[in-house]
Amino acid sequence: MNKTNLGKKIHIFTEDIPDEGLNLSFENLERVLTDMEGCRPLGPVSGQLSIQNVGGRIHLHGKVVARVGLCCDRCLEEYTQDISTSFFYLLCPRPDFDQEVSREMALDEEDVEVYWYEDGEIYCEDIFREQILLALPFRNLCSEGCKGLCPDCGADLNKQECTCKQGAPDGPFTVLKNLQISGG
Ligand SMILES: [Zn+2]
Ligand SMILES: [Zn+2]
Repeated sequence: MNKTNLGKKIHIFTEDIPDEGLNLSFENLERVLTDMEGCRPLGPVSGQLSIQNVGGRIHLHGKVVARVGLCCDRCLEEYTQDISTSFFYLLCPRPDFDQEVSREMALDEEDVEVYWYEDGEIYCEDIFREQILLALPFRNLCSEGCKGLCPDCGADLNKQECTCKQGAPDGPFTVLKNLQISGG
């Protein structure tokens, strides 16, 4: 297996893929997570690609492993999420893809991600980035039992109890208080 640790954006040119295919291992891919809101690398991000050129169609098997920090939807604290995901892409040259290939693939291989490539170039970082995005949970929760923030005083109820609950049950003033918070 070739070890690749490039300092610049990683492209693969389809003409460089030998008949027996290409197996690549990538390290230090943390930069694929830059500008990803609410998700930052907490450790090294690494990936693997196994690429085959089958008559101009690129078969790409891959894997990406990352440890990221996500922001909990309830308590807004950062928590750690491990990601390890495998994937397969079928990449077609742009002209093919635009014509009948996309329709044909859609019918035959529903589970396969079909994409196009242009000018014989494959952008590996875009693939890793997309796969990390897809592997993120639908809802970000630091734990199933996260108590979140008190809607009244904003206290993190995982760390402390607030006194709001002990006050009067919901009445006209609760509505007023909420209005003040959201308006401020
Ligand atoms: Zn939480
Ligand atoms: Zn409170």
